[in-house]
Amino acid sequence: MKVFNSMTRKKEEFVPITPGEVKMYCCGPTVYNFIHVGNARPIIIFDVLRRYFEYRGYKVTFAQNFTDVDDKIIRRANEEGISSAEVAEKYIEEYFKDAHALGVRNATIHPKATENMDTIIELVQALVDKGYAYESGGDVYYRTKKFSHYGCLSHQPLEELEAGARIDVNEQKEDPMDFALWKAAKPGEPAWDSPWGQGRPGWHIECSAMSNRYLGKTMDIHCGGQDLQFPHHENEIAQSEAANGCKFVNYWMHNGFLNIDNKKMSKSEGNFFTVRDAAAVYGYEPIRFFMLSAHYRSPLNYSKESLEQAQAALQRLYTAAENLEFLSKNGREGGLTADETAVVNTFDGYRQRFDEAMDDDLNTADAIGVLFELVRAVNTAVEGAPTKEFAAACLAMVKEFTDVLGLLYQKQEADGELEAKVEALIADRAAAKKAKNYTEADRIRDELKAMGIEIMDTPQGVKWKKV
Ligand code: AMP
Ligand code: ZN
Repeated sequence: MKVFNSMTRKKEEFVPITPGEVKMYCCGPTVYNFIHVGNARPIIIFDVLRRYFEYRGYKVTFAQNFTDVDDKIIRRANEEGISSAEVAEKYIEEYFKDAHALGVRNATIHPKATENMDTIIELVQALVDKGYAYESGGDVYYRTKKFSHYGCLSHQPLEELEAGARIDVNEQKEDPMDFALWKAAKPGEPAWDSPWGQGRPGWHIECSAMSNRYLGKTMDIHCGGQDLQFPHHENEIAQSEAANGCKFVNYWMHNGFLNIDNKKMSKSEGNFFTVRDAAAVYGYEPIRFFMLSAHYRSPLNYSKESLEQAQAALQRLYTAAENLEFLSKNGREGGLTADETAVVNTFDGYRQRFDEAMDDDLNTADAIGVLFELVRAVNTAVEGAPTKEFAAACLAMVKEFTDVLGLLYQKQEADGELEAKVEALIADRAAAKKAKNYTEADRIRDELKAMGIEIMDTPQGVKWKKV
């Protein structure tokens, strides 16, 4: 597989540190609010990256943190009159609701800053001991200019970064570019004991500390949105490499922005929709489909039209899958016909093209193109009187791709009770028709309609769907 490495700005062949294993880390949300649609982009994309590695047989260890102590959380806690821990706990729970509804699997580990204080403090101490950090008035700062590669990820020398950065002027610092590793406690803020007095960690240090603890000194892939490259990821590199004396990350992967009216969707600009609000209009799964319909590094514009297109495309997939599922139960008995075997023999070609697309820096847009070609071909191939075995083989092939993309995860007949009731009414209707009691058959059809169930008579039997 080739991935675009933001560090080298090239597509590179992915070679894991340990053969057959991938260790990846993704910077997770600061939990003070509901996530917005822009935040959902990295969450969905890197869930697919992880799924793809697993599909290719890798054992993946995926860490995604929660920043659960931070200025914004503290502000929110004060506004709501509750503790920072309560704010964080609430929005972690809300995060999982959205993530699960978007078909995002839990990471292998979701470390929290507040549960890793010892590791964080140890790392700050190591940087102080090596002369990369200094204490000043209870704060601890990183001596940015001492780290000679600073700016390597942004491809800009420190002077240029300095000119462009919003530097917070602070008397405590030796140099304006220095950044906080540890912040002395202020009244009313959560604080932990440390060698520098009571305080709390800066934002950047938690990712260095937690990735070190859970993935080791060097990881395969570190990912996040492109806005994290500077300063967050530059700072992570400076911290980890200065402390450990070795390379921090082999491949950096950054997603492009989700825009609205061609401007980055962001909380601070106020031009955002929470995932929850967008899902109330379009549904969760269309949001996922929409994200995967473009290459992850391209900008992507959020609009009513694109979400509606995603809804329609997804509906086509569900209709095809439901049809195949029905035929795999109600099709003809017997082994594959010669024509069916010929279709099944084409599957490897689709598989190869799907993998080629995903191997090309996770080109989900092209992979979805291959999926739709497959769906069109099997839709045609099951017209007429397919065997059960053939319909099942087609369904398995479609599912192989949708499982990698994390699509078709809503069990449409999740309601087992409803399914049993519908099947019973359909059987009653068949019996009524057989007895030429058409009035009763029509009455049952109406009863089903009133339940929101549409039925269709097909050569293979009665099909039904919720409308
Ligand atoms: P934040 O809550 O702003 O720290 O963002 C959490 C994650 O979402 C980070 O990986 C960001 O890079 C990413 N992110 C935030 N806004 C957008 C956006 N409009 N498009 C794509 N990714 C975003
Ligand atoms: Zn991070």
